[in-house]
Order: sequence, then C-alpha cells, then structure tokens
Amino acid sequence: MSADLPEDNRPLDEFAAIARYFKPLAGGDPTARHLDDDAAVLTPPEGMDLVFTKDAMVAGVHFFEDDPKDMVARKLARVNLSDLASMGARPLGYLLATALPEGSRVEWLEGLSRGFAADQEIFGWSLWGGDTVSTPGPATLSLTAVGAVARGQALSRGGAGEGDLIFVSGTVGDGGLGLRARKGDLPEGVTADSIKVLESRFLLPTPRMALGQALVGIASAAIDISDGVMSDLGHICEVSGLGAMVSQAALPLSDAARAVLELDPSFWPAIFAGDDYELLFTAPPARRDAVFKAAGMAGIPVAEIGRMEAGSHPRLMDEAGNMVTGSLAGYRHF
Ligand SMILES: [Mg+2]
Repeated sequence: MSADLPEDNRPLDEFAAIARYFKPLAGGDPTARHLDDDAAVLTPPEGMDLVFTKDAMVAGVHFFEDDPKDMVARKLARVNLSDLASMGARPLGYLLATALPEGSRVEWLEGLSRGFAADQEIFGWSLWGGDTVSTPGPATLSLTAVGAVARGQALSRGGAGEGDLIFVSGTVGDGGLGLRARKGDLPEGVTADSIKVLESRFLLPTPRMALGQALVGIASAAIDISDGVMSDLGHICEVSGLGAMVSQAALPLSDAARAVLELDPSFWPAIFAGDDYELLFTAPPARRDAVFKAAGMAGIPVAEIGRMEAGSHPRLMDEAGNMVTGSLAGYRHF
C-alpha cells in the first residue's frame, strides 16, 4: 500500500487502516510481503502465462448506494474472477484501489475487508497491494486481478470455427431480471422466493472458475457474460470473423426467470441484459462429449444453444423457427 501524500496531509489512520483491514487480506502470501514494501514481487509459476484483468465499480453507477458493502466487494472480486475464468486461468492475487467518502470510510473498510476475506476463502487468492484514498465523490473501487494459465493455452474470443457448437454454463437472464428485482420492477405475482433468487444472482454472481480451467484445450473460443448472452456472443463473432445462430428454446433459464416470463413475456429483453457471469464458449462438434465431461468434472451444468456459421453477427431463432428481431444488445445499468 503506498501512501503518497506528504506527511502533514496524510490521514492519521492511513497506516492503522492498512494494518487493520488490508494486512489480514494479504495473509502469508509471499508475493504481498505483508504489504510492508512499496510493491509486490511475484515469482511466476513455472510453465505458466500470467493473465491480467481489471474492473472498476462506482456507487450509483455499478451498484446501489445502499447495497451491503461486503457484497459490493464480493461482486467486484467476482466480476474480475469471471474474466480470469473466461481465459481458462486460475486466480493468484489482486491489487485493490479504493476511493471512499470520508464520512463512511470506516464503514466501507470494514464491509469491504469482510467481503474480500469471505471470497478469498472460496477462490484461493489474496491481496497483493493497492492504495486507499478519500474522495468527495461517490465510492469508487478498482481491482486488478492476476491469474495463471498453462503457457500458450489461454482461451480467446477469436478461436471459434465455422460449424463449432455454442455452449453456455448455468442459466442466463437472472442477472438482468435480478437488476429489475432490485429496482422493485418485476410483474405482480412473482413469489418472494423468486425475487430473492434473482436479486442474489445480481448481487453475488458465481464465476465459473473450475469450468474455465477445465475447458482449456477443449473450447475453441470463450467469453464471460457481462453484457448479455447475445451481445457477448457478438464479441466472439467479431473477433472470430463469423456469425452465429442461437435457438431461443435452448437457452437455459432458471425456474425464477421462467416464472417471470410466464407472468409477463415482455420481460424477455431482460434475459439478454447481462450481469450473468456465466461462461459462453464454442467447441468443434467432435469435442461435444469432452465439453460435457469437463462440465461434469467441474460440477457446473452446461447447455448447447447454437452453432457458429458464416456471417458477421449472432442471430436468434424462436421456437417457431422465426428470427427474433429487435435489439438484443445488452444494456448498461441504470
Ligand atoms: Mg469479460
């Protein structure tokens, strides 16, 4: 943790805050050097490539001001972990920058450290360093995640071939419906249980780490769903230089999502709104069995939803065999 302010301007509790809230997150990881030095020092794992990603979140833009602060930390960790998963990487450690409003600084530090600690247990990584400052603006958090994948084996958006099958993990649409739930904007008649399921999928996504790693050497292209299943498939199409056809009927939906759509089909666009953090990937037909075997070993359900084809963008076919028109582009929050 650097403290760049001159001594006179340094908040009195700067070092106390680091000692109390951040040092426990560094634990005994030698890379972090107990946060005693000016920077972290990583000895790269033998035979591995390092994978880097960064995501930032701003209060009022990417999360609600009154979201529980530990949940904000966990979502920030998880959206970054999901990017590592989409590359086939396992997590190693992270750097964290926080700009926190002075009035709620301690509350933030307590919530964030509690959230990061909980997810470090689950995902097996630790804090390597970072910085914490005060801001007159909204709370702003940025995390840089570092992972590792076998040399030359990182998954890519650009490897899909014509005729490759398209797969998605888990269920899609819960993130988009969860945001609507969080805003109190679901149809009358949705059960409290369904609302809770959808909200928690939005607040606390599950990055598919084991699946991403299991797909190394099997998937031809991969991405994680942040913008929406069709929008993110569009990124694979763009980088792979292909089109894609997806069957709407094949999209895996949760019971909660189905319940919403049965009550009001006008909520379909929310299915494509993103924040799912599932893995969307392709593989040649000859690897179909290997895909399902990898999914079984990772303990994560996978559905086959379509096929890569000649063209330049993804298309969606409804149950009657008609092309779905209208915007399927994911939208950003708020
Ligand atoms: Mg991503």
